[in-house]
Amino acid sequence: MARRRQIFEGKAKILFEGPEPGTLVQYFKDDSAAFNVQKRGVITGKGVLNNRISEYLMTRLGEIGVPTHFVRRLNMREQLVREVEIIPLEVVVRNVAAGSFAKRFGMAEGTPLPRSIVEYYYKSEPLNHPMVSEEHVTAFGWAAPQDLDEIMSLSLRINDFLSGLFLGIGIRLMDLKVEFGRLWEDEHMRIVLADEISPDSSRLWDIKTSERLDRERFRDDLSKIADAYQEVARRLGILPESGPADIKGPETMQ
Ligand code: UDP
Repeated sequence: MARRRQIFEGKAKILFEGPEPGTLVQYFKDDSAAFNVQKRGVITGKGVLNNRISEYLMTRLGEIGVPTHFVRRLNMREQLVREVEIIPLEVVVRNVAAGSFAKRFGMAEGTPLPRSIVEYYYKSEPLNHPMVSEEHVTAFGWAAPQDLDEIMSLSLRINDFLSGLFLGIGIRLMDLKVEFGRLWEDEHMRIVLADEISPDSSRLWDIKTSERLDRERFRDDLSKIADAYQEVARRLGILPESGPADIKGPETMQ
């Protein structure tokens, strides 16, 4: 059987040519190199969990009218997505100070922010993803001012919706990173949510214990990270015990 053509290999995912024009297959790897840290390795099962978690979250977002590139999950590690022209920005929305932000402003991790703050980073590995302003984005032509307005309002809607969704299962969404792409339908262009939404691209803390349920775990112990991701999937009600028939709805916490 002919091998599918590989379009791109990133740190956590591989993109293959899809079955029809305008589609791609997104394959989720177990590699942990997605984290800008020295330690690298494989987290067994991470790809399977992220594929499932991202499918679930993109589907819920689609239901409230957020356009996404997601079409359907194909198997344990792959999903079919619409091919988009990626806008070279990592859009970070922050609700609570953590990580590089806490360091930059000398704030204790866990300090709530007065309101959600949107930041843009330029997607460039060699430059180590520098933070950029709207001025850089529009002057360099990465996105037009009206595209940025759309990106900002979609990012805030996504953040609000997911904050509520996670709150319902006892998890605080500290911050998250989203990426967008352009999708052309005839002459009309739409900005859609692309890439993935998973514990690789967000900070998720247990509300009661402040236990980290995301990639931050990795900094101490690689072997524990899959447990944390599994716990997120379990609380979302998407962790099949013995097969897809066991998938239930989210477990709401009081
Ligand atoms: N993030 C990401 N990819 C990156 C950098 C950050 O998905 O290359 C996410 C990260 O998981 C967190 C948010 O963006 O949810 C903000 O990350 P921050 O700038 O605080 O960087 P960090 O301290 O994680 O290096």
